[in-house]
Amino acid sequence: MSNQNTAPFSLEKSPADKSILVLSGKGGVGKSTVAANLAISLSMQGYSTGLLDTDFHGPSIPKLLGMEGTKLSSSDGKKLNPAELGSLKVISVDFMLSSRTDPVIWRGPMKMNVIKQLFEDVNWGDLDYMIVDCPPGTGDEPLSVVQLLPEPTGAVIVTTPQEMSLSDVRRSIQFCHALKLPVLGVIENMSGFVCPHCGSRTELFGSGGGEKMASEMGVPFLGRIPIEPEIVSSGDSGKPFVYHYGNSQFARDFEGIVTDIVEKVTAD
Ligand code: ADP
Repeated sequence: MSNQNTAPFSLEKSPADKSILVLSGKGGVGKSTVAANLAISLSMQGYSTGLLDTDFHGPSIPKLLGMEGTKLSSSDGKKLNPAELGSLKVISVDFMLSSRTDPVIWRGPMKMNVIKQLFEDVNWGDLDYMIVDCPPGTGDEPLSVVQLLPEPTGAVIVTTPQEMSLSDVRRSIQFCHALKLPVLGVIENMSGFVCPHCGSRTELFGSGGGEKMASEMGVPFLGRIPIEPEIVSSGDSGKPFVYHYGNSQFARDFEGIVTDIVEKVTAD
């Protein structure tokens, strides 16, 4: 797909063969958790993968991956070397701030310039996949990413089952349609809780709303991920979930979703 919205400042070349934006309508629905685990899962499958955190106002990728406080280096004085977690290459604006509590106060054009530099002035190498974690909503950051990348592959949209989250996610889908960015699919996160003691399932926030909404909006549904208490502790302690808890229900459900995404983008 060529980017119909190609702006004059669009990159000449994408750093990756396939680039996937991870979007959500609201914060707190697990978008960064999905972005981080998707990137790790792809890199564990042997794909050369980069993860770019464009959530400038609340970057959570460094925390989720246990990479807080990382300082970036440069081998040639021109381009920055990304931080590395195994073979996964990671860039977050958090790595460039002098203090972790520094707020980022930037207007739209400045954000676009910074995102452009994060694509162009980083030694990404030749990537198979670039996963871009965007802040919630349809603001400057996802718009800049879509306009800068010559051929963005598509978006994965994360929601929780409640109507409160679904109404905002419809806007994210419309945003993709307006920019002619293919929607690879919707993931319903925090969908039900399976009791670790008795195995019974409770639909704490309801269930199935994401699938119904995806079908109403004519976009694919990628699957449900249950509430998994270990995700919270693994995120807080910087242990990427799919890597450390490969046998959990979350990891198994997630693996199926990643396989689906790879098949979709390879078929295209
Ligand atoms: P967002 O990027 O949408 O703001 P995060 O990925 O930062 O959301 O997740 C918000 C919080 O929810 C984090 O503490 C994360 O560990 C937790 N979380 C995400 N997905 C799940 C899940 N399936 N089960 C339990 N906790 C989750």
